[in-house]
Amino acid sequence: MNEPEHTSQPMFPDDKQTGEMHGYMCKVDFECELGFAEGGNTVYPSVENLKERRKCTPQCGIVKVAVRCLEVVQAEKYTDE
Ligand SMILES: [Zn+2]
Repeated sequence: MNEPEHTSQPMFPDDKQTGEMHGYMCKVDFECELGFAEGGNTVYPSVENLKERRKCTPQCGIVKVAVRCLEVVQAEKYTDE
């Protein structure tokens, strides 16, 4: 059995044309903090998952976002050879 080819594209992108994955974020995280998000901001796979994990959404709001790999900065390395 052949190893799957490693690419920078997700195996099942939401948009096959662009290779984008779609997700959901707290609207305030997206608007105000993405550029200043030391430690990162979370993108959730569904509105339900976002609402479950983030109790701020009734106040902050929700945005749908697209995530796309622009460049592999450091490739994966699973074994020491
Ligand atoms: Zn929020």
